[in-house]
Amino acid sequence: MTSSASLPPEILNHDWRRSLVAQAVSRAFTPPPDTEIWEWADEVVLLQNEDAAEPGEYRSSKTPWTRRLQVIIRHTKMWVWDWTLSRYVQVNVTEFNVQKSSQSGYSEAALNGIRWFVSYRPRNTIYAIDSAEEAKKIARRLLRSFKFLDQSIFTGDPDDIKTLEFQLRGMELLFYGSFSSGKFANKQAPFTVSDEVEEHGKFILGDLASRKKTSTGGLQINLSKPKLKGGPINKAFLRGNQEEFFVPCPHCGHNQFLTFFPEERDVPFHDFNDLIEVAPGEFMPRPLPLGETRKMRTGRFVFDHCKNLLGKWDRLRVQNETYYECAACQGKIEEHHKRWMLDRGRWLPLEVSSSPGIVSQHISDFYSEDELSSFGKIADEYIEAKHESHERLQSFFNHRCGKAWAEEANATQESDILANVAGRSVWFVDSPNSEGQIVRNIFHDEPSADRLAAANAERGVDTPPIYSACQPYTRGTIPFDPYRVRADSPPILILGSDVGGNYARWAVIAIHKNLSDAAVIDWGEELDPDSVRELAANKTWPIRLTGEKCRVASGWMDARWRPGDVYKACLASRGIIIPTKGLGGAAAVTVKLWSYVHVTSYHTRFRELHYNDQRARDALYIDRIKKMRRRLWFPSDVENDETFLEEMCAERQKQDRRGKWIWDESISAPNHYGDCVKEAILGLDFMTRNIRS
Ligand SMILES: [Zn+2]
Repeated sequence: MTSSASLPPEILNHDWRRSLVAQAVSRAFTPPPDTEIWEWADEVVLLQNEDAAEPGEYRSSKTPWTRRLQVIIRHTKMWVWDWTLSRYVQVNVTEFNVQKSSQSGYSEAALNGIRWFVSYRPRNTIYAIDSAEEAKKIARRLLRSFKFLDQSIFTGDPDDIKTLEFQLRGMELLFYGSFSSGKFANKQAPFTVSDEVEEHGKFILGDLASRKKTSTGGLQINLSKPKLKGGPINKAFLRGNQEEFFVPCPHCGHNQFLTFFPEERDVPFHDFNDLIEVAPGEFMPRPLPLGETRKMRTGRFVFDHCKNLLGKWDRLRVQNETYYECAACQGKIEEHHKRWMLDRGRWLPLEVSSSPGIVSQHISDFYSEDELSSFGKIADEYIEAKHESHERLQSFFNHRCGKAWAEEANATQESDILANVAGRSVWFVDSPNSEGQIVRNIFHDEPSADRLAAANAERGVDTPPIYSACQPYTRGTIPFDPYRVRADSPPILILGSDVGGNYARWAVIAIHKNLSDAAVIDWGEELDPDSVRELAANKTWPIRLTGEKCRVASGWMDARWRPGDVYKACLASRGIIIPTKGLGGAAAVTVKLWSYVHVTSYHTRFRELHYNDQRARDALYIDRIKKMRRRLWFPSDVENDETFLEEMCAERQKQDRRGKWIWDESISAPNHYGDCVKEAILGLDFMTRNIRS
């Protein structure tokens, strides 16, 4: 339903009748040339300094993959497989969705569509973008390029060109976005372009679709770099026929689209080297029988060889020696082959049963001849992003690969805890998944791990299995000799405590010598924070093999519920126990990971640890328990305590409005022991923050 939201007053108060009059005038327009929009643009569109990295004539050969969009803007037709007739038929295109990388050239291609309509087939047009600033930029950019077109496109009245609203001969061109305020105007625009959909979200998609509905022959173009899987542009992409840009191998001719890591896809088509010519010069893949798919493999970037004698990346070699490996002949495809390949590129769908009328495309920067997007520069950027942070890596996937990022969803199961019980041998193989993200594959037998490692080796990815083990132990004992600051200092045990209205729970972990892995050794319930302090000071746990008795070296206690009692206990512990506060929701924005702050109204050396609760839960439930990136072992008799198990499995993730998976802060199931272990892990991560990197 059309809701009444967000259109600027200048659009609301617009005199739309005037454009009807103008439409009559438009009949006097010169007939359009026979050439496609991109050919026309190659001849007439000039980009000025502030509009383009490289000023001068528009050249579609630089971004040949955008030509298909420019063809469809004019001839809104696509081929769709008709299962009844067993052949391809043409249907009208109503939606064109592009999940794109940053150097894709799609915005300019869509602007060419507007320039063409303005010149030959005026129609009301809406251009939506995420910010008023961007809208103004685009409006100015279009206006500058209009000056090189036939000047009769202007009405002659200077009042007709306003900042975000152009009254042109026979049409109106409006710019707006979620920044616009005011009432919704129920206006129809047969041509709508929405750029950076991901930024202004679902509002714009629904909003624009409702404007196009009743106008015949309407086309909506949605362009965006993706963010998360299931986000607005990713959903729009999945609704369509999911085209990829195929280029032939210069060595063997194999038709393939380029991917950073080798990917294996299930596709409903026969070999992409054997196409059907549906019209002169137009090719489509042959569908497999209904419901059948086959595995298709892609090629990959190769740069593993660019390491120095110490096994470290030689960044200069990465930049100069990275090449693309053909999926079929494993031939070296190099930078200088790109031109030849691009001249022979074509879009082919990977989906056969999508909604007819929706073209969707995915494009990466891997095809770009831009110096900054060479195979070597992209590989180098990947190495840097991977080294730097999770965020940088996501941004590499989004901006360079044009890929939606798969955020890890999670709800801990009892089986997840049991999989981490000490004494069970586990083998890891860290390898890229079909999305190209590195994931830890977990095996409980060695041959399976070896099989995956061998399969990876076959496609050129070196992933030796990693063996992980901890001696079995029972609750109350320490399975290994824990980390000590010095050989003669006591071993490190860390206590985490969750304090509620009428209880104070605790859990203790022993820290492995690698300062990364840990074992949960005991847990329990006291009445108040001070009893936990007393326990931390006096209780001992034996090391399984030597019998050496160990005490808690450091404790971390949640101060949200009874801050007065918690602070009192912490002060009495003489610095062994430190209060903490997990920040969630909006408050977490101010704390990236953690901050160690003075506790107001106490003496200045008394501090508490504020931490991002979402990230702390990721660290425990995803990194350790689910993905085993770092280990957290449980005793073999953990199954005997149902309360502990239940409370370790109480946390749930949910998707927020933007499709991002977040920990649900409104859960009501008790999670106290989960919080105790979370506090202990948090303490470990905080204390070792400068050691691990
Ligand atoms: Zn080849």
